[in-house]
Amino acid sequence: MLLASTEESQGACLDTGAQRTVIGKPQADAYLASIGKDIQLDKSKHPRRFRLGGSDYDTVGAVSIRFPVANHYFLPLTVDVITLNMPFPLGLDTLDFHRMYVNNVTNHLVCVNDGVAVPLVRKFCHIYLAWGFEVLYTFPKLQHIHKNFYHAKPERLFSLIRRAKDKQATPETLRQLEDVTEACDVCQRLSKEPSCFRIAIPEEDIRFNRRVMADVMTLEKTSVLHIGDRDTLFSAAIFLRDTVSCMSVWKAILR
Ligand SMILES: [Zn+2]
Repeated sequence: MLLASTEESQGACLDTGAQRTVIGKPQADAYLASIGKDIQLDKSKHPRRFRLGGSDYDTVGAVSIRFPVANHYFLPLTVDVITLNMPFPLGLDTLDFHRMYVNNVTNHLVCVNDGVAVPLVRKFCHIYLAWGFEVLYTFPKLQHIHKNFYHAKPERLFSLIRRAKDKQATPETLRQLEDVTEACDVCQRLSKEPSCFRIAIPEEDIRFNRRVMADVMTLEKTSVLHIGDRDTLFSAAIFLRDTVSCMSVWKAILR
């Protein structure tokens, strides 16, 4: 019914209407080979019998597949394997569970939860999601590495991974590590403040103080008004002379 190569992994076939996600042994082997893993199947947690083409096939194992739905995001799938030369159809169970659907007009896999649409390709008269198997780190895995190496800087961690000759380390990995650092609470709290003024050029005409952001803080029991221009990000601070009130803040702004 569907063509599948036994030589290289073809990705996931999305327009089969299959009820359950399953993968043929040759494609499972090809996937494992493409990511440099031993061709050894895991034990299936819920082995079941699949009926395909009038024949029954028992689950012979399971394979963990990282299914990419965005540049930095993978869905970890555990897929049952059967001994049939067939592709990797993504079943309605997976599509429903992760709230995804295939748009065959625009050829996109739409992920409702994440608000992204992944481009698909047509081959063998079907719609496939084929992905680059070189990008294999998941965000949680990189977070784990980041913490295990005591919050090392992204560049240092990346060079360490490269020195270990890890095939998964690509320039994309460095960008992911930078995202991990940016999202890390510890790194943000310990990071140095920028040593220069931050300013920005607004897209429209420059209009100073059209919108301002104001904050009142206390320095040794003295109130301080800190104001930043929303468009240029230019900021200034001034001590408030009396108690904090609308009038005293307004007077400080006018000064
Ligand atoms: Zn960190």
